[in-house]
Amino acid sequence: MEELVSLCKRRGFVFQSGEVYGGLQGVYDYGPLGVELKNNLKNSWWSSMIYERDDIEGLDASILSKPELFKYSGHEETFSDPLVDCRSCKSRWREDLVKDGKCLACGSTDLTDARAFNLMFKTPVGPVENEESFAYLRPETAQHIFTSFKNVQDSTSKQIPFGIAQIGKAFRNEINPRNFIFRLREFEQMELEYFVRPGEDEAALDYWREQRLSWWKKQGISSSSLEIYDVPPDELAHYSKRTIDIMYRFPHGLEELEGIANRTDFDLGSHTKNQKDLSLSANIKKNDESTMRLAVQDLDAKKWFVPYVIEPSAGVDRGFLAILNEAYTLEVLADGKERVVLKLRPHLSPIKAAVIPLKKNNEGLVALAKEIKSGLQSLGKGRVILENTGNIGKAYRRHDEVGTPLCITVDFDSLERDTVTLRDRDSMEQQTVAISDLKQTYSELLK
Ligand code: ATP
Repeated sequence: MEELVSLCKRRGFVFQSGEVYGGLQGVYDYGPLGVELKNNLKNSWWSSMIYERDDIEGLDASILSKPELFKYSGHEETFSDPLVDCRSCKSRWREDLVKDGKCLACGSTDLTDARAFNLMFKTPVGPVENEESFAYLRPETAQHIFTSFKNVQDSTSKQIPFGIAQIGKAFRNEINPRNFIFRLREFEQMELEYFVRPGEDEAALDYWREQRLSWWKKQGISSSSLEIYDVPPDELAHYSKRTIDIMYRFPHGLEELEGIANRTDFDLGSHTKNQKDLSLSANIKKNDESTMRLAVQDLDAKKWFVPYVIEPSAGVDRGFLAILNEAYTLEVLADGKERVVLKLRPHLSPIKAAVIPLKKNNEGLVALAKEIKSGLQSLGKGRVILENTGNIGKAYRRHDEVGTPLCITVDFDSLERDTVTLRDRDSMEQQTVAISDLKQTYSELLK
């Protein structure tokens, strides 16, 4: 973990937030390379959910949430962790972290009984601060999907089964944020709510488990680092009939990367029962059951039902950490020197190619390198940079370390013979390529 944290800071992937003021615990900033990798990861998820299928729609809902939303979802009552206080040093701990009844900071056994600590952040809304005018910062993106369910369905005419996908920030006032970006107070989730008919939920859970495992493997996570954990009934969240966790061997241990829950009709059902606004699409014949605003019509059986939902919910930050951990490789070269190389899948690499003029500030070389850079950049495959530092060896090392799949050297042959040297990150092999073929070769190598 220390090596990853150090690489992240040194190369601009992840920084402690508010570092100049001593840092804010459980909150991190993604730097120039981190934001690229994170966006690439999110784009890959979005593409697999929305563009590569026709049964899922996207959503970008608000973070500020009406209190009712998290009251009726059950979060006000149950979204808490048991917390114990140390009477000696006044530190606070999640009960499950405390071993043998001893404070983790000072070792004292003078601890309070556990009490429920709600993890939701509250913020005042509007100019007057009072108990009534507040909002929650959402602790999961899912609830807004449920309350937008009817709007999405009406506007897209989707029939069950269909899904709604969303990527966005979530906030939890974790008692002990830890392990770098694994447990945060501000983090990002990629959540799908896939709505099915009651009775089709169990098969749908199995289907999504396979889909999600296969997607993680496409991001470069090896099968041997993944495990499935079938959450036992006494550990299930209040809304879940069954949950399967995709566990990953993080540097600090085997922990949850993604949860796939069968939330049944719990959420749509709860929001339905508590709706005062029972307006329905005008063309729907009203009957008793149709007053359930979030129900859908079964056209064959001519009755109403509340769909069940399967929720694959993945953490962007945990995915980021897992991917870095998998890609991080320390190699000993033939000459005994070491090199750190980040063997990222090309679609995730923050920089796709570095174009390096052999001599710094040489007019002819730099002009050609700029032309090559903008030609490759225009292909829209991600960031291509011009590396005008004049030190090829150093540039190769730096780009190995940040996972750039290709380095393209522009030298005097480039000016005379219209060729460049292309260096592969993993094999370190070099090939000479005609500039006229470069776009095609580049596209093929990045596939
Ligand atoms: P854990 O048991 O580790 O606290 P959870 O079961 O509470 O996780 P879920 O509510 O299922 O997590 O959230 C879905 C996903 O969101 C998790 O699999 C994880 O990837 C991510 N996630 C949840 N809490 C955090 C957090 N505090 N920091 C970073 N990511 C998180």
